[in-house]
Amino acid sequence: MEFEAKNCWKVYGSKKHRAAMDRLADRYIDFLSWCKTERQSIEWLKAQAAARGFDQGTGKDRFLKMHKGKSIIMARKGKRPMARGLRILGAHADTPRLDLKQRPLYEECQVSLAKTHYYGGIRKHQWFARPLALHGVVVKTDGTRVDIRIGEDPKDPVFTVADLLPHLAYKQVEKKLSEAFEAEKLNVVLGHVPMAASAKKEQNPIKLGVLGILNQRFAIVEEDLYSAEIQAVPAGPARYVGLDMGLIGGYGHDDRACTFAGFEAFIRQENPEYTQVLVIWDKEEIGSEGSSGAKSLFMEYCLEELLDAWEPQTRLRTVFENTRAVSADVHAAMDPDYQDVHEKLNASLLGHGPVFCKFTGHRGKVGANDAHAEYVGWLRAVLNKAKIPWQMAETGKVDMGGGGTVAKFLAVYGMDIIDFGPGVLGMHSPFEICSKADLYASLLAYEQFFKN
Ligand code: MN
Ligand code: MN
Repeated sequence: MEFEAKNCWKVYGSKKHRAAMDRLADRYIDFLSWCKTERQSIEWLKAQAAARGFDQGTGKDRFLKMHKGKSIIMARKGKRPMARGLRILGAHADTPRLDLKQRPLYEECQVSLAKTHYYGGIRKHQWFARPLALHGVVVKTDGTRVDIRIGEDPKDPVFTVADLLPHLAYKQVEKKLSEAFEAEKLNVVLGHVPMAASAKKEQNPIKLGVLGILNQRFAIVEEDLYSAEIQAVPAGPARYVGLDMGLIGGYGHDDRACTFAGFEAFIRQENPEYTQVLVIWDKEEIGSEGSSGAKSLFMEYCLEELLDAWEPQTRLRTVFENTRAVSADVHAAMDPDYQDVHEKLNASLLGHGPVFCKFTGHRGKVGANDAHAEYVGWLRAVLNKAKIPWQMAETGKVDMGGGGTVAKFLAVYGMDIIDFGPGVLGMHSPFEICSKADLYASLLAYEQFFKN
């Protein structure tokens, strides 16, 4: 009669499951360590899909299209007509970070620095005193793109934002947390050595030294940075956490865990009943804005193109009305040290499977997508039949906070959609933690979603 969420470690205790779980986690760690920006993630996905026969042509049953290198859609034709609806899984590949400003470079007190403007919901104090890497692109006036990736190879230098020493922090520690760490102090240290002695006395010798290295290595000048997108992100690879290696720590589980598990589930499908679509967006962390975010018409245009090619007699609105979708995004798992911000009956536990979030939003469900009970019932049946653990949770206690995802931007088409993904500890921090077992269960759950 009673319901209790199941523990994935018990459900997937067999040797076969554990081996598959380990292999998946190893692949995921490689992916997470390599892909630190939306561009890198989309590039990775595109290469993987292209190797499996996905391309821009609509003549086959496999389709792929990328937008601005920051979002991507893949589709696989199903046996049933598109008019019967699609199975769409959407996730996002952007992550909170420090973006270099368009005019970043300066020097003070014998160090060269870069100004930043943070992106997404960061807790500013987490970004001080840790090794950072620089990833991004610089586009020159002739259109050439220079890819930047410094700080990941153990031989590379790293960068950092220096923190205030405790000896002189007496005033700072009295401040409110929201005021103690200022965004304009999130400046990344880039260098220290003055440019090789020249005859005339230079005004910014250390900044010039840094520019000299950039010029030597990438053939760029300061003005090129105006058309650059450079992100300071936590340096170094993702790692297993804990003696039993049951957890994975790394930068960007939100939402690369779902990007990865969603893609793995998508590529495993053969001859599906319904046409399957995987969309990975950008800009979710800042409200799904812009031409690469979920509010854009990219997905709609691509589906229109596919419908024209595969089923011209059907109207797109019919397809949408019958479509079932999952907004694959991570959830805030119950934090052992901050259990008081959760309401236990409606909180999720690490290791207990992917989490449904029926509604998001805040303060009385404002701004929420709210999945219909009928849809939740259908999803429960699908997962229960395949014996896949799942749980249902809200993002914390009522009036404690909240959040949003891409779900509501797809719901406007009339399709059924719900947020569904693994729990994460320390979400939006430079080192987020998720459970290996939840990653595995999420993959299996997404597979079932695509299939049914
Ligand atoms: Mn997310
Ligand atoms: Mn997020």
